[in-house]
Amino acid sequence: MGIGSTAELAFRLAVAAVAIGGPTVLYLGLWRFLAWLRDDALIDRLAAQGVVEEPRPAPVDVLASATAGIDGRRCSACGTRVVAGGARCPRCRRDLGSDDKR
Ligand SMILES: [Zn+2]
Repeated sequence: MGIGSTAELAFRLAVAAVAIGGPTVLYLGLWRFLAWLRDDALIDRLAAQGVVEEPRPAPVDVLASATAGIDGRRCSACGTRVVAGGARCPRCRRDLGSDDKR
């Protein structure tokens, strides 16, 4: 046992840390990239034109429920439970930000 084996051990620990943490960092980076790519306005526009079918439930709502959980809010129009961070009711697609205006 000497300085050489200590340096080798540190190198091996560093390689292990990269091998363990690397995929996690890449996965979280992909997650954030996909969230950045999301264009709700485009999907709403295309769904209004009938070009695409409205996603039901929307992938963003699934993501929001997986990451933030359910906070007990309900849609004021139809009473559907709304996921935390969701911008629209999953059933009637009402904009939840406009709830307190009525
Ligand atoms: Zn609703």
